[in-house]
Amino acid sequence: MLQYAETLTSYAYGLVSKQFAASPKTSPQEDGTFLSHEGLLTVSSDSCSCSFFRTTNLPCRHILRLHTDSHMAVFTDTLAPQRWRRDFWYTSVATSADAPASVAMVQGSKRRNRILTETEKFREAKVITDELRYVTSQCGMTDFKHRISQLHCLLQSWKAGRDVYITGL
Ligand SMILES: [Zn+2]
Repeated sequence: MLQYAETLTSYAYGLVSKQFAASPKTSPQEDGTFLSHEGLLTVSSDSCSCSFFRTTNLPCRHILRLHTDSHMAVFTDTLAPQRWRRDFWYTSVATSADAPASVAMVQGSKRRNRILTETEKFREAKVITDELRYVTSQCGMTDFKHRISQLHCLLQSWKAGRDVYITGL
């Protein structure tokens, strides 16, 4: 799992580690089928017919279980698609507006000490705001209202030229 943590964005790794934690109690059948609440799934070492895999292309609980059962390495390169990789977000401009990203990009060492152009700043900020959108949209209604009001507060303060200090981290 460590290799997933190192390779994937923090958002994607979060998804995979949840799948890993939810490892099914039963093993896949000999013929590569797997009975789950989604019905009969077809599982192989690098694909699965469940909805998680079909939407993300990341290793789902069934693939992970298959790997563990057959003593294969949990990490394989094909199970870390480019769009979920840290290095992809380091090097590419985040043009696909709806893809989630990681804050890891901001920590790129080359950029640390140099003056950025407005476009570069925009890109860095966008990586964080993309992730912010995901985190905000994935909580319950009570948390959501709270978070939205915090975001409003931050935005209004910055527009007004006031600094914001975050405490309690
Ligand atoms: Zn699956």
